[in-house]
Amino acid sequence: MAALVYVALGSNLDGPAGQVRRAIAELGRAPSIHLRRVSRLYRSPPLGPAGQPDYINAVAEAETGLSPQALLAALQAMELAQGRVRTGGRWGPRPLDLDILLYADRRIHTPDLRIPHPRMAERAFVLYPLYEIAPGLEIPGRGPLRRLLHDCPPKGLEPLDEG
Ligand code: ATP
Ligand code: CA
Ligand code: CA
Repeated sequence: MAALVYVALGSNLDGPAGQVRRAIAELGRAPSIHLRRVSRLYRSPPLGPAGQPDYINAVAEAETGLSPQALLAALQAMELAQGRVRTGGRWGPRPLDLDILLYADRRIHTPDLRIPHPRMAERAFVLYPLYEIAPGLEIPGRGPLRRLLHDCPPKGLEPLDEG
């Protein structure tokens, strides 16, 4: 049974917009992941340590036959393939970050995987692109996406001018 999943993409290193576009292409190529929709790219001020470049973010909707753990492993392999080095503190600069936001209507709480993504409700750079592709979503345990968005000002978030 295929599951409908939402994945957040982010980059703030080594040509962030190109990194995000390449990751979208890779998601589209992955045999067990069927990409259905992708938001526009957005630019957002960095979270975490100061002095980092801005982030480029997007959200993708896909269907997959992979289990949540197998999907996480596939996404982590893509991060590594795009040069991510797992050193430095959390939220430091990275060429690619792929987070599972939602996996069907599942709620998962293991040391390696938490779904819905536990910090998504406070992140404009997740909620706005997600709303663009799936405005009617219900977030398991959190309520309607529309309401989360209403409670999360867009701050510095802006769609990338792709002219
Ligand atoms: P944040 O999760 O706050 O966005 P981050 O993306 O910078 O932080 P990472 O260093 O990329 O954090 O990931 C740390 C660990 O988070 C991963 O090794 C993974 O096991 C775990 N993790 C838990 N839930 C998820 C999820 N829903 N999607 C991706 N990784 C997750
Ligand atoms: Ca993240
Ligand atoms: Ca991550």
